[in-house]
Amino acid sequence: MRQTRSDGTDLLTTEELSKYFIGVRALDSVNITLEKGEITLLLGPNGSGKTTLISTITGFHKADRGRVILEGRDITNLPPHQIYNLGITRTFQIPRPLKRMTVLENLMIGVKSSGDGIWGSFRRKWLEEEDETIERAFNLLEFLGLKRLAHHPASDLSGGESKLLELGRALMPDTKLLIMDEPLAGIAPQLAEKLLNRLREIKELGIGLLLIEHRLDLVLPYADKIYVMAEGKIIAKGDEEVLDEPSVLEAYLGA
Ligand code: ADP
Ligand code: MG
Repeated sequence: MRQTRSDGTDLLTTEELSKYFIGVRALDSVNITLEKGEITLLLGPNGSGKTTLISTITGFHKADRGRVILEGRDITNLPPHQIYNLGITRTFQIPRPLKRMTVLENLMIGVKSSGDGIWGSFRRKWLEEEDETIERAFNLLEFLGLKRLAHHPASDLSGGESKLLELGRALMPDTKLLIMDEPLAGIAPQLAEKLLNRLREIKELGIGLLLIEHRLDLVLPYADKIYVMAEGKIIAKGDEEVLDEPSVLEAYLGA
C-alpha cells in the first residue's frame, strides 16, 4: 500500500505504525489517513489488529515503530491523557458508566477545567466554567435523547442508553477525532439507526470518526471511507467495493 505523508491538512495520519507483541506483528507498517467530517470504517477479521491500532493511536499501547500525526503534529507515544486533551476520544466495546453516579455526573467527570491547579482568583472563572460544563452536558443529553434521565443513576439505563451515554462522554471535551470500537454491538437495529444518525450529525460538525464495526448492513451506508486489515496490515482501502476484492474475501475466509 502506498505510504501516506501528511501535509498538515489531514486530521490524523499514521506512518508505518508498528506494534509487536511477543511472536505477533499486531501492527505492521500501518498507513492510514483520517479526515475531518468523515466517517472512516475499519474492518478486518478477528485478531487482525484493529483494536491494537486504535489503542496505539490513543496512547494506550506504545508504538514500536512509525508515527502518529494529528493535524501536522507528532503525537506518537504521548501518554493517553495528553492525547485525550488534544481532542482524540474513544468509546469502548463495553460501555463503562459509573453506575452509582447520575447520568449528568457521568458527563461532568473527567472534563478538565482549565482553572484546575491555579487557585483563588480563578475561582470565579472556574464557577463560570462549571456552568458551561453543565450547559454542555445538558445540550448533549438533549442531543442524545437522554435529558429526562439526567438525574437518574446510570445503573437505570438500558444497554442501548448506556451506549448513548458513552457517546456523550466522548463528546464532552472539544473532540476532533472520535474513535468507537463496535458501537453497534448488542443494540437493537432501531437504536442502531438512531446512533448512526447522531454520528452523521457529529461528522457534519467537522469531527472525524473512526469506527470499528462488524454490522456492515447497518453501518455501510454511513461510511465515507473503508480500510480493511488482516494480520496487522492494511490490505485494502476505498469504498464499499473493497469488500469484493479477492484479498479481502480471502482474509475473511482464512480467519
Ligand atoms: P482485532 O481487534 O482486530 O480483533 P487485536 O488488535 O485485538 O485484533 O489483536 C491483534 C493481534 O495482537 C492478535 O494476534 C492478538 O492476539 C494480539 N494482541 C492484542 N493485544 C495483545 C496484548 N496485549 N498482548 C499480546 N498480544 C496481543
Ligand atoms: Mg478488537
